[in-house]
Amino acid sequence: MRAVDLIAAKRNGRELQADEISWLVSGFTSGEIPDYQASAWLMSVFFQGMTPSETANLTRAIVASGKRLDLSSIGPFVADKHSTGGVGDKTTLVVAPLVAAAGVPVAKMSGRGLGFSGGTIDKLESISGFRTQLSPDDFVSAVRRVGLVVAAQSADLAPADGKLYALRDVTATIESIPLIASSIMSKKIAAGANAVVLDVKVGRGAFMKTLEEAQALAVAMRDIGRDVGLQVRAVLSGMDQPLGWAVGNALEVAEAVQTLKGEGPADLVEVAFTLGAHLLHMARKVSTVGEGIALMRKTLEAGKGLEKFRQFVQNQGGDPAFIDDPGLLPQAAVQQVLPARKAGYIAAIDAEAIGRASVAIGAGRAVKGAQVDHAVGFVVHKKIGEAVGAGENLASIYAQTEEIAGSIRPTLETAFVISDVPVDPPPSVLEVVA
Ligand code: URA
Repeated sequence: MRAVDLIAAKRNGRELQADEISWLVSGFTSGEIPDYQASAWLMSVFFQGMTPSETANLTRAIVASGKRLDLSSIGPFVADKHSTGGVGDKTTLVVAPLVAAAGVPVAKMSGRGLGFSGGTIDKLESISGFRTQLSPDDFVSAVRRVGLVVAAQSADLAPADGKLYALRDVTATIESIPLIASSIMSKKIAAGANAVVLDVKVGRGAFMKTLEEAQALAVAMRDIGRDVGLQVRAVLSGMDQPLGWAVGNALEVAEAVQTLKGEGPADLVEVAFTLGAHLLHMARKVSTVGEGIALMRKTLEAGKGLEKFRQFVQNQGGDPAFIDDPGLLPQAAVQQVLPARKAGYIAAIDAEAIGRASVAIGAGRAVKGAQVDHAVGFVVHKKIGEAVGAGENLASIYAQTEEIAGSIRPTLETAFVISDVPVDPPPSVLEVVA
């Protein structure tokens, strides 16, 4: 086979066969196929798309590039969860302990922030001593001990995705449904769980801006799951405004703890309960999704999710003292408030602008590999649909200097749109693809 022929075939719209895709992926991973040919092929996929069978074959080839974890020693059922990325998305920190406390083990590999969206690993590293880099053996023994592990993606799993992703990032080929679906699902398949719930974010603060795109991605990922015998459900959830109140690493950890104490924002609670309920249903802990929601609520109200979160933090070397005293999390040097210019109703909060602003003040990375500042970020005090009085606080800015906080104020001010007439809050959960 020659790479140039497969690039031309894809460019001309021919469906590639399993052996052709596998040859391309293994050749690229081993370095035999150079970046320029892989880039040209990715761009031809970007324009021509892939059939479901090609997408499944691409996913299988990426999985085959590395190891596949065997979690069978943990028990008959292990759950996983993945978000396509959003702003203020601390859902894993709420869903995973609640599902684990309800008796279903959760083993999850997570990523760092990507573009304007935050990453669970960066959030967890706000916790003093918390270890996110675990060997495959430590990963398995961590979940065996407390029923819950969240660690950084292991380099041994789906290494082809790491290489392809890095190339896509710099060749304008990220926004392709078959490429995103195979990238996410290859990592989920390699990580070894029996079932995965996908949180497909839709809206201004998500990579999928429209419901149609999100549905297509959800269907593509569900179909890959079917193809390899992995149970998959996708919950499409709204990301036009930040999820919950907090945006920024330690601020989001504090909000997750507050939520596990029963004082969380309504949208975060609804998304977390829905995702968790689907995992409990797939694990046959409950016979309907409605019962799953009730079990999530009961587990939260009994304080069992908080207790599981404490065990999880300790199990991975973290100091759990911040759970009782959030002041022990990293603290920003300055705090400024953003008053509303006029009275009215919040009509929009541009989640992408808020996500980009959080990166600009240090909560995310401007360049690959940079350190993030765990302390900085924003807390939104008014969400879409809420009434606001003139001068009332819309948000708090947590930054390291007054100058940085001041520099970001204009961006935040324009992110909030205030209407004179009442506005309905947007739905948090849009639909489920199963
Ligand atoms: N997240 C991934 O893991 N892969 C993509 O391609 C996009 C988002």
